[in-house]
Amino acid sequence: MSATIIDGKLIAAGLRESLKNDVEAMAKARNMRPGLAVILVGDDPASHVYVRNKIRACEEVGLQSFEVKLPAKAQQAEVEAEIQAFNDNHNIHGILLQLPVPEHLNSDALIQMIDPAKDVDGLTYINIGKLVAGDESGLVPCTPQGSLALIKSVREDLSGLHAVVIGRSLLFGKPMAQLLLAENCTVTMAHSRTKNLEEICKSADILVAAVGRPKMVKGDWIKDGAIVIDVGINRQDDGKLCGDVDYDETAKTASAITPVPGGVGPMTIACLLANTVKAAK
Ligand code: NAP
Repeated sequence: MSATIIDGKLIAAGLRESLKNDVEAMAKARNMRPGLAVILVGDDPASHVYVRNKIRACEEVGLQSFEVKLPAKAQQAEVEAEIQAFNDNHNIHGILLQLPVPEHLNSDALIQMIDPAKDVDGLTYINIGKLVAGDESGLVPCTPQGSLALIKSVREDLSGLHAVVIGRSLLFGKPMAQLLLAENCTVTMAHSRTKNLEEICKSADILVAAVGRPKMVKGDWIKDGAIVIDVGINRQDDGKLCGDVDYDETAKTASAITPVPGGVGPMTIACLLANTVKAAK
């Protein structure tokens, strides 16, 4: 079998196009444009690139964007003051604190300060609780939301399928498992202490890898016809990016697979825009 390549760039472009129409309709009907505020603390080069891409994506779909850059030595109270100001600002519908923040800051306290109605990363306890409870009024974390859309681009009905999620972070693995559960999958969550990971993966109809270890998932771990979503982003010695899955080997057995780059990554930003529009609505 040769796998269908799930083209995240194309699917994300389609989502952005439909958001652009939504935003134009809101601008006409309500004379307003949704606004996203991004707070960046410190000088991590990767974070600066991510933020730049997010701001550019906002402009493309007609969203307003606001950016605050704070120095690496910024104190907790300074960051809190920025979050509070955005919470109180009616022109801001989404607030994103770019992670990770410098180690001396209490990242969780900052995230939990964000008004849940503006929490476009979906990381406040209110939004996590809504996801677990199946309350669709909440904001769902962007990368798992985008990953589910990619899975559904190749298979609409996931009911009864065995989904294995490797990685249990709050940012990705846990919300991903909840989304798959809500689609009536039977979900197994794997992590660094999981025994027989290879055997578990071999029984997966849907395999989602979010670990951060280059090409950890081998081709012979994949069940014939499985859908494979590779969330990992790893920089190799030659400077090229690769995922957590051995793509070339896996593509021989899987029915569909996301490439790295060009798979999950573009969906994350598109879903951030979607969450901002949802928050504004
Ligand atoms: P994380 O917080 O570091 O979590 C990694 C998870 O992998 C943990 O749950 C860890 O288990 C598990 N793990 C580590 N070694 C393992 C092993 N040998 N076998 C099985 N599980 C193992 O990372 P994250 O934030 O979830 O991100 C994971 C990857 O996705 C990273 O490469 C990141 O760059 C990428 N990512 C991409 C996007 C995107 O937009 N494409 C967005 C978010 C993340 P324990 O819990 O037991 O430690």
